[in-house]
Amino acid sequence: MLAAKIKATLRDVPNFPKPGIIFKDITPILKDPALCGEITSALVLQLNGIKIDVVAGIESRGFLFGLALAQALDVPFVPIRKAGKLPYKTIQQSYELEYGSATLEVHEDAFGAGLQVLIHDDLLATGGTVVAASQLVEQLGAQVAGYSFLISLGFLNGKERLSSFSEDVYSLVD
Ligand code: AMP
Repeated sequence: MLAAKIKATLRDVPNFPKPGIIFKDITPILKDPALCGEITSALVLQLNGIKIDVVAGIESRGFLFGLALAQALDVPFVPIRKAGKLPYKTIQQSYELEYGSATLEVHEDAFGAGLQVLIHDDLLATGGTVVAASQLVEQLGAQVAGYSFLISLGFLNGKERLSSFSEDVYSLVD
């Protein structure tokens, strides 16, 4: 089973980046090319054929399988980055963190109006990050087709938070 293989390969790092957090480190997965290939295929399969025009990956771990997924679907890939990293004209969306706030950006010409955008990240926790990404998609007149994750931490209720943008939330491991 792929989910079991992912769980067995992931590394749990307690108290990173701060006390009380168990960080799900995917770097051991990246060292296994066969497993990476299986993950990309499974990410495609679980989308169940929904219409996707663009995959948007979230900095930085969302870039890793996000680009692979876009290539497998034969659609463009768009990076959504933390403030100050993208070189061209951007739009911004701020969101609340446990302590303070953060800002995501995307290039202003990243999505055409009306396109169906799949948002991809490695992990869903509270959902705050991908909600901000969804607002960027909608600021440009595009729509959120769904969300794709390797891992979803169910106990933080992230999926419920996303439902106002799209009911389609996919993860390989819960
Ligand atoms: P959230 O906005 O709370 O859904 O947090 C999701 C973002 O934070 C993703 O970009 C994740 O990569 C990262 N993240 C949050 N919690 C963890 C965790 N326990 N392990 C690894 N990454 C995490």
